[in-house]
Amino acid sequence: MDLHTETLSSSSPVRREDDAKLTPKASLLGATRAELAETLRALGVPEREIKMRVAQLWHWLYFQGARDFGAMLNIGKSLRGALAEHEHLTRPEVVTEQVSQDGTRKWLLRLAPANATDKGAEVECVYIPESDRGTLCISSQVGCTLTCSFCHTGTQKLVRNLTSREIVAQIVVARERLGDFPGLTPPTDGLLPQGEGRPITNIVFMGMGEPLYNFDNVRDAIGVLADGDGLSVSKRRITVSTAGVVPQIEKLGAEAGPMLAISLHAVRDALRDTLVPLNKKYPIKDLLAACRDYPGASNARRITFEYVMLKGVNDSPAEARELVRLLKGIPAKINLIPFNPWPGTQYECSDWDKIEAFSDIVFNAGYASPVRTPRGRDILAACGQLKSETEKLRARARLAVEAE
Ligand code: SAH
Repeated sequence: MDLHTETLSSSSPVRREDDAKLTPKASLLGATRAELAETLRALGVPEREIKMRVAQLWHWLYFQGARDFGAMLNIGKSLRGALAEHEHLTRPEVVTEQVSQDGTRKWLLRLAPANATDKGAEVECVYIPESDRGTLCISSQVGCTLTCSFCHTGTQKLVRNLTSREIVAQIVVARERLGDFPGLTPPTDGLLPQGEGRPITNIVFMGMGEPLYNFDNVRDAIGVLADGDGLSVSKRRITVSTAGVVPQIEKLGAEAGPMLAISLHAVRDALRDTLVPLNKKYPIKDLLAACRDYPGASNARRITFEYVMLKGVNDSPAEARELVRLLKGIPAKINLIPFNPWPGTQYECSDWDKIEAFSDIVFNAGYASPVRTPRGRDILAACGQLKSETEKLRARARLAVEAE
C-alpha cells in the first residue's frame, strides 16, 4: 500500500521545495488505544461510538493480525472505507530472514521512511525458541549512543529513536513470520517449540539501543504489547534491559511495570567506567540503589543482572564474591553471558572453567546463575552482534561501487 501524505488544504498552497520535507503519514499499526480514538474522531466517528470502534480495531490489529481494513467485517462499510482512504497498516519490510541451525531466527527490518528524504532505517529483531518458551528480542533505537567497549552495536552511531508503533510492529511482523496469528500457517521447518501455547511467549528489550533513552515510546509500546485483548504478552514476560539510566528506572517501574534487567558487567567503578561508559554518570552505588527501590521487585519478580564474561577482565573468583556482596538485599538473578566476539574487538570470551567457577560462587550464595547459551552465533544474532553483518555487507558494497 502506498504511504499517504498529509492532505494539503487548497487555501494554503505549499511551494514545491517544501514537498521534500513533508512527513509521510505513519502506519496505524502499533497505535495505542488513545491514538486509535484520536484517529476515529478525526474521521468523524461520534463520541458515543469511539470506545466500541477502538475495541473492534484493536481486536483486528493485535489479535487477528489483519493487514488491511477491508478484512474488518464487523466495522461498518463506510467507516472501513474512510479508514482505507485516510490510514494505512503498512508493516516494516522484511529485508532478510535468517534461520540458525539452532532455530534462532533473525529478521532485518526496514522501517518506513520518516520523511521524504529518509531512505528508511533498519533494525534487527531476533527470535529465540527454547523448550519452555519463545523469546523475541527487539530493538528500541536504530544504533546506540552508549559505546560500551565490548558491544558491536555500540560502534554504530545512533540514527534515531524508534516510535512506539515501530517497536510494536516488530512483534506483529515476527508473529506473522511465525504463523502466529489466527488463520496463518506456521513455518514447517520443525524448528519452532513444540506443544501448547504460542511461539512468542516472552519479549526482551535487548536488541539495539538503550530503551531508557527512548522512555515514552518504550512505555507506550509495553502498554500495547501487554494488553490482554490484543498481543497479550503479560508484563511479567516483558523485560527491559538497561545499561543503567538511573533517573528513569523508578519511572519505568511506576509507569510501565515490566521486568527489569541491568547490564552490570563489572563490580568496580574503575572497570565499569571503561566497559559501560554510562557508569561515569551513574556509578554502581546509585544504580544498585535504584534497583533496591524498583517498584514491584520481589522474590517472585527478580531483577536480572547481566554479566558478560570477558577473559582476564572481569571473570575472577574475587569478582564473583564481590558481585554477591553488592547484590545483597536485592531480589536478583544473575545471567552470565559468554562474550560473543566480533571482528576487531580487543576482548575474548572467558574460558569455560572460569565461567563455571564464577557461576558456582554465585550459585552457592543462593542466586540462580544460568549461563546464557549463545544462540544464533552462525547468523550473528547473538548479544552484541546485531547489525554488524548488515553494516559489513553495506560497507563492502560501498567499496565495490567506489572501486568502479
Ligand atoms: N542498552 C541496553 C539494551 C541492550 S541489551 C543494555 O545495555 O542493557 C544487550 C545485552 O547484550 C546487554 O546486556 C549487553 O551488555 C550484552 N552484550 C553486548 N555486546 C555483547 C557481546 N559482544 N557479547 C555478549 N553480550 C553482549
